Amino acid sequence: MSLDLKSLVRTIPDYPKKGILFRDITTLIEHPEGFKESVERIAALYRGQGITHVAGIEARGFIFGAGVAIALGAGFVPVRKKGKLPGETIGQNYALEYGVDTIEIHADVVDSRHKVLLVDDLIATGGTAIAAIGLLRRTGATCDDAAFVIDLPDIGGAAKLGAESVKVTALMA
Ligand code: 5GP
Repeated sequence: MSLDLKSLVRTIPDYPKKGILFRDITTLIEHPEGFKESVERIAALYRGQGITHVAGIEARGFIFGAGVAIALGAGFVPVRKKGKLPGETIGQNYALEYGVDTIEIHADVVDSRHKVLLVDDLIATGGTAIAAIGLLRRTGATCDDAAFVIDLPDIGGAAKLGAESVKVTALMA
């Protein structure tokens, strides 16, 4: 386990709009050892802690979250954009730079017997993760842990999650 994972993430300027430096994780996941090691390093931080489910945020959180769930022997909970899940759902709005978005989970997917780890590729403002944690906690499940491949600490999202009593880990900043 000695790969420099950060060197496998590419930065693309002006995507999705001018002035944004987008961290592109496709170059990390298309690298066989890089992808495997990313998932294994996250899983290693949570092994033996009673995680029953990993929740991944659509869409890039599905990629890493599913791998972490398998590595931990946990179930996988898809946190989806509005209107994508077929069963009864609960939803949570969250603010975007311009406007509002909604994420949803199946209402019966987890409950107070479960301990959920949230996984996403990147945390910036923390808005998406806070909405997902709030949604998962509304089911009665414990959701006090969130893992990211990339943290952008200058934007302050991880600190915001900390203020919500969520312990945050990231593989790189
Ligand atoms: P936040 O809600 O923390 O501001 O933004 C995080 C969400 O936006 C995550 O779901 C993440 O996938 C996406 N995101 C924002 N900026 C980037 C970026 O530079 N690279 C990638 N891969 N995802 C981003």
